[in-house]
Amino acid sequence: MVQRLEELTLVGMELPELEKLLGPEQPSYRARQLYDALYGKQVANLSEVSTLPKTLKHQLLTNNALGLPALERRFDSIDGTRRYLLRLADNRTVEAVFMPEEGRDTICISSQVGCPVDCKFCLTALMGLERNLTAGEIVGQVIYVARENALRAADARLNVVMMGMGEPLLNLQNVLKATRLLTDKSGIGMSPKRITVSTAGIVPKMEELGRAEIRPKLAVSLTASTEEQRRHLMPITRKYHLSDLMAACRAYPLRAWEKLTFEYVLLKGVNDTDQDARRVVRLLANLNCKVNLIALNPGPGIPFETPDPERVASFQTIVRKAFPCFVRKPRGRDIFAACGQLKRVASDLVELT
Ligand code: SAH
Repeated sequence: MVQRLEELTLVGMELPELEKLLGPEQPSYRARQLYDALYGKQVANLSEVSTLPKTLKHQLLTNNALGLPALERRFDSIDGTRRYLLRLADNRTVEAVFMPEEGRDTICISSQVGCPVDCKFCLTALMGLERNLTAGEIVGQVIYVARENALRAADARLNVVMMGMGEPLLNLQNVLKATRLLTDKSGIGMSPKRITVSTAGIVPKMEELGRAEIRPKLAVSLTASTEEQRRHLMPITRKYHLSDLMAACRAYPLRAWEKLTFEYVLLKGVNDTDQDARRVVRLLANLNCKVNLIALNPGPGIPFETPDPERVASFQTIVRKAFPCFVRKPRGRDIFAACGQLKRVASDLVELT
């Protein structure tokens, strides 16, 4: 089924695939025109494409869906964040979040429907994995949200983070294909410096990502200061040990302009002490990195609490002596759009009130 979807939808195809789809009957420039319509102009409908003959458009639409997601529901936060519940061709839904800021905008997109990595503090984990997203479905979220907010993806103020639902490195081939499409200068035209993929620590896939010619920046969700603590909070550690994860980070081939990012979710009384902060500094010693602290965003069924702001500040003070260290502002908590709160059901709002 996934294979079929991928073959049939236009968004998600790279130029050689479009050439193959159009076949030798069409002049060779047609595929390029179609590519430009899909990714350069980012049309929402083939009828908007004036360069293609009507008969071809008709033929394409009979056999292929355009493949952009449809809106199921939009939630607007008081802080300007918008959470989109988007419907895919098989009626499953995923979430994408738009976060406007002074001088920059961020679109947070999903890489899977649900997630198979069982992090104990994350709401998406409660869904389990339903399926991987296709490259077209990953790119489609960016095209959809950018268009909805009258943004151009190629604009330097836009950032894309693959930090929504799912573990991107467990869907690496599609994530890499989506990255090629997002960064192609003759198409969507984003800089790879403005795309970040975040992993819970799938060690062999980090190595594979490092070998890819066109790849996003890498963020690693650390969230623990010892092997044992991480095993409790992120059971994936039983398969990929913290020591192996740190070795993979040290071996990771950073580009000249790149730093590794570590995310650390602070859980009250669990991993948020000054001692934890000092251990984090030792774990990361000599790495070219920065650290983003995220105070837990609470959710129903999540057995942890948010630390007090003073605790967060104290943790940050210690880490900041060694590395750039920021506290991530919670965005859209009121609409369940913040990190670890994406859970698809439209009734989330009811749960909150
Ligand atoms: N699976 C990938 C991509 C998800 S990114 C990963 O784990 O990195 C989502 C980020 O939000 C991760 O850093 C994750 O650790 C963090 N997160 C998950 N649940 C959270 C919660 N309840 N509060 C704050 N951050 C959370």
